Parts: sequence; structure tokens; C-alpha cells
Amino acid sequence: MFRLYDTQSRTVKPLTPAEPGHLRFYCCGPTVYSYAHIGNFRTFLAADLVVRTAEALGWKVTYVSNITDVGHLTQDDVADASGEDKMEKALHSKEGEAFLNIWDLARHYADAFEDDWARLNLRRPTVRPRATEHMREQIQAVEKLIEQGHAYETPTGVYFKVGSFSDYGKLSGNRDQDSLMRAVRAVVQDDNKQHPADFALWKKDDKHLMQWFSPWGWGFPGWHIECSAMARAYLGDTLDLHAGGEDLVFPHHECEIAQSECLTEAPFCGHWMHVRFLQVDGEKMAKSAGNFYTVREILEKGHDPMALRLALISTPYGKPANFTLQSLRDAMSTIERLREVRRRVAAAGVPESIAGQPDAETERLYGEMLEAMCDDLNTSVAIAKLIEGARLFLRDPELTREQAEAAQWFLRRADALLGVVGESATASEESEPMIAGQPISELVEARAEAKKAKDFARADEIRAQVEAAGWELRDGPDGTEWRRRVE
Ligand code: AMP
Ligand code: ZN
Repeated sequence: MFRLYDTQSRTVKPLTPAEPGHLRFYCCGPTVYSYAHIGNFRTFLAADLVVRTAEALGWKVTYVSNITDVGHLTQDDVADASGEDKMEKALHSKEGEAFLNIWDLARHYADAFEDDWARLNLRRPTVRPRATEHMREQIQAVEKLIEQGHAYETPTGVYFKVGSFSDYGKLSGNRDQDSLMRAVRAVVQDDNKQHPADFALWKKDDKHLMQWFSPWGWGFPGWHIECSAMARAYLGDTLDLHAGGEDLVFPHHECEIAQSECLTEAPFCGHWMHVRFLQVDGEKMAKSAGNFYTVREILEKGHDPMALRLALISTPYGKPANFTLQSLRDAMSTIERLREVRRRVAAAGVPESIAGQPDAETERLYGEMLEAMCDDLNTSVAIAKLIEGARLFLRDPELTREQAEAAQWFLRRADALLGVVGESATASEESEPMIAGQPISELVEARAEAKKAKDFARADEIRAQVEAAGWELRDGPDGTEWRRRVE
């Protein structure tokens, strides 16, 4: 049984796909106006762990995670979002000067996002739809909502009539007028709106940099309708699970429910998962606070993608998580231990291609790891089991064939579940460690040359520099290899 906290019922309850053994899962993706930060990836990694846990249980997973490339406005915490389009704003910023136009900017950040996704070893979604490629579905949904009497047109756009859906507020708890009005903060962009909480499905705007022709003239869709339309296109009227960061409960997901349930007259989603925000150095992450990290910044500094992945998943998704550079270093020493186990498996003559054979202890540990993940993704327990498993195989310097087979079995299973054992395919070449701004391979080469010239003082100096940065050099018959120092 896979139990997860459900935001709507406010309980931890079994995740029960409508079709047994087949999970239909939607996770809101990023708005592609800049590089993704590590907080964004805390959310995507939690979704990734759902997918991996479901797979470990033998379920089929249809996983949809979109790219928001239009319609997300800067003031998005009120129901009727206002402000500039985030992507237009980015185009007009200093960074935006690098792009030819808004489409170029969207493509660049969407590609960068998919790179980050691969480097952090997240499972590829079954479909990664883009809002701009689903305009027809969005316009048709808005048309139908008007026909049904759930939406109306004004001079500025088309609005969803919140009063026409009696369950509005069932997810966030903003049900009565008082709490609803507090949540929307009575921001009214258009006096023709019938109620301050009504939110835009379509914005009329013939100056917008991305615009489409609709029955209401030129304009662009509201942010909420895109997810309703894309989820329906790929997963049908009713999803099993929908996820996002905690800021999406209201208004984004509340509005998705209203639109979708009015449109289809079917329940939209059986289970809602929201990820607590990541903090950095104990504070809200913000550029102005100097504690804002994109994924690529961290990797460019030479940190291992698997260490970042482990650091970001080590606190269970529902608990407040704090990221520090120390947590990244601690994660790296765990990763190194796992890689050392893998080296010892290879040294015992067990190739990576074989499945291995568990013994009673590894079977028990993996069972407990999976059980922890099925208990609302309890990653702290699951990772503790992983470390316990590694310790088992690092006790003696050499593994017997039997131990190596058990280690192999354990690493494979643990890696499928948590994704932190293997280096991601591109990690080794892309994330060559940098030491004082110089790739480690250049230092290794300079040291080899110094040795050749019998300048041993210089060679030792280079070794000391590499070691001070937390790496060690091992000279072997095929040259010098570097690895993280394991304490
Ligand atoms: P955005 O690109 O702003 O639409 O955000 C993409 C996803 O990241 C959404 O699910 C957000 O809720 C989530 N998110 C944003 N900031 C954080 C954070 N600090 N911690 C965890 N998730 C976040
Ligand atoms: Zn969404």
C-alpha cells in the first residue's frame, strides 16, 4: 500500500489509482522565464520519487509534467492574477537581451530545464506538453465553460464565475466569503467582473508578444486553464494524483478543480500532493538575500549532480527543508561510499550488467527502504537504510563473490527507487570538478609534466592543492584518476 498525504482531505491516505496498477499523475511544470532553482527541483524530485515508488510496486505510470511557456503573470498569488507576463518581463530584462524574441527565450530556458532534469536523474515524463502547443484545447474549454454558464466575457477577457461552482474552496479551505475575500485580496482588474474572486480564462490583448486568435479576439490564455486542458488531453477527465509546490494550492489548483469539474462534470483528481518550500541557510530563497541558487550554478561550481539530488530529497517533502552547502558536502560523502561499493563489486568480478542475488540482510534492508517510501515518501528513513546497506559492504576491503552479488542486487534496487547511486549518464564528463577555476584534468596533466621534468616539489604542490579542495589523486598504470576523498 502506497500512502501519501492528501491536501484536500488533510489526511495521509492510500494512493488508489482508478485503474488498479496504473497511476495517472500530473505535476505542474516550470514557467520558463529563467533557469530553474533548487527549490523548483525539490518539488520535481518529490514527484520523481512518487513515480519511482509506484514503479517499484510494479505499477504502470502515465506521468505528465508540463512546461508553462505563456500566461503566467507576475502577481499570481491572487485568484485574478495581474502584472506582467513573466516571460515578457524576462525578455525586457538585462538577461533578456541575449534572445531574439520571446519564442527564442522560451526555447532556451525550456531546453536548459530539460538538461537540469536529466542531470539530476529524474525519470522522463511520459509526456511533457507545452501550453503554447495546446491552444486549441484551451480555447475549446473556455468556449464550453461560457456555453455552460460558468464563464462570461467582458471588455478585457473571459472570466470564470466562481459562484457557479459550489465546491470552490474545497482544496484550500477558502470556502466562505470571508476567507475567499482574504485570499483574493479583492484585487479587481476589471470593473465588469461579477465577483472579485472570478478569475481570467482568457485575456484580450493584441499587444501581447505571444497571442492567438480566439472567438474573443486576439489574446492569450490564463495560467490555470492550461493545466486543466493539458491534464485532460493526456490523462482523461479524472486523474489519480496531482502535484506541485505548496504555493499552488491556491489559487492555481483551486481554479483548476473549478474549471475541470464544471467542464467535464466528473471529479478532477482523487489525491493532491503539495511540497513544502525549500529554504536556504534557514531563510526564504531570494536573489536579494544572496541565498538563491540555480541548479546549474551549483553544478558549475563542481558539485556532483547526485550529491545535489541526495541533498534535495533527504528531508521528506512534507517537512520544512533547509539547504546548506554543508548538506551538499555530507550528501557527497554518502555518494562516494556508494560508488566505493560499486567499485568493490566490480573488483570482485561482478559486471554491472548482471542483476545480482540478494541475501537475507539486503532483502530486508531494501524491503524497509520501499516500506519507508510507501509511508508518505519517508526519505529520511529510506536514505538511512541505503547508508546502512553501503556500510554492510564496506566492512571488509574485499567482497566475496556472494557478497558482491548481494551488493549488486541492493545497489540496483536502491538506485531504481532513489536514483542517487549511478552517476547520471552525462554527469562524469559535464561536471568535471573545477579547482580554483581550473578543470582538475589540467592540474593532473600539469602534475604529470612536473614529475616528468623531475620537479617533484611542483608535483607535490599540485597534489596538495587538489587535496585541499576535497579530492584525492590515485596514480595507476593507466594514468592518474581523481575521486572525492572519503572520510
Ligand atoms: P514556477 O516555475 O514558479 O511555476 O515553479 C515551478 C514549481 O516549483 C512549482 O510547483 C512551485 O510550487 C515550485 N517551487 C517554487 N519555489 C519553490 C521552493 N522554494 N521550494 C519548493 N518548490 C518550489
Ligand atoms: Zn499547473
